[in-house]
Amino acid sequence: MKQEVLVVGSVAFDDLEMPTGSFPDVLGGAATYSSLAASLFTHTRLVGVVGTDFDEANVKMLQAHGIDTAGLERANGRTFRWKGRYAPDLMSRTTLDTQLNVFADFRPKIPAAFKSSPYVLCGNIHPRLQLEVVEQVERPKLVAADTMNFWISGEPKALADLLRKIDLLIINDEEARELSGHHNIARAAAEILRRGPKQLIIKRGDCGALLFDSHGAFFVPAYPLEDVVDPTGAGDSFAGGLMGYLARHDDTSAHAMRRALFFASALGSFCVEGIGTTRVAKLTPADVARRIEQFRALVDYGGKLDFAHEA
Ligand code: AMP
Repeated sequence: MKQEVLVVGSVAFDDLEMPTGSFPDVLGGAATYSSLAASLFTHTRLVGVVGTDFDEANVKMLQAHGIDTAGLERANGRTFRWKGRYAPDLMSRTTLDTQLNVFADFRPKIPAAFKSSPYVLCGNIHPRLQLEVVEQVERPKLVAADTMNFWISGEPKALADLLRKIDLLIINDEEARELSGHHNIARAAAEILRRGPKQLIIKRGDCGALLFDSHGAFFVPAYPLEDVVDPTGAGDSFAGGLMGYLARHDDTSAHAMRRALFFASALGSFCVEGIGTTRVAKLTPADVARRIEQFRALVDYGGKLDFAHEA
């Protein structure tokens, strides 16, 4: 039976400076991307904070996706704002401005009805707050967390505590190197797994993602797209798709995780096809099914991969 995903993290207005032009006041935030992605698969619950400037139409849009917004707090002040500028090749970006606003005092309060959520995704917030989330939920089946360089260098103790409490860490390769102190990705993964999480996903942008767990390493490609519009939130959509798939099938086995990675990569690939959350917000199950077919073709080598057979 389908299980619920709880998503905790930022809900934001982003100002995006893309090579194609400027896009101000775009609905964003890690939790927005993740919950929209997860909502394609299963019942999704959102915990975050917005200000008085957050349009009710945005809340309605999230609800129209079946997302339970009972944990979306409305505080006095302005919604979190982030401004970024992308390089012409979209491969790197610079943060131009971060205004925490109501997010500065955010203490995630998990509504009583959300505490039994079996699948929990802690978006990139202070690791102490991520720990508070873990402490508030009741024996979930899978707790996943994201983090970033800012916390890796600034809050190593809190992050170390968090790593001992989560099942799955989802980070990018640069973060994995900084966190582990190893340049080699496989060594970095082994070191991170020694620190607590049972599973680790290392995202490598348009080069796909690697899963490391007790069964070894597994690779999922990124879908090769001709038209990439905006990479913002791809990692968050990836994580939402992953958790949504696992919760839909209520399966945390190694094979389910490997299958879920294709859905995660599919959601990441859709995300970059539109500005902000626009593409993810318009997706249908048929779109997801089509992209999964494309993934199948991408990795189908039509036979047995067996050297002895060749000889
Ligand atoms: P990503 O592209 O996966 O890094 O996610 C982009 C989203 O993260 C944007 O929509 C931002 O609003 C949000 N974001 C940017 N900086 C932060 C931060 N310091 N804490 C939480 N969320 C952030």
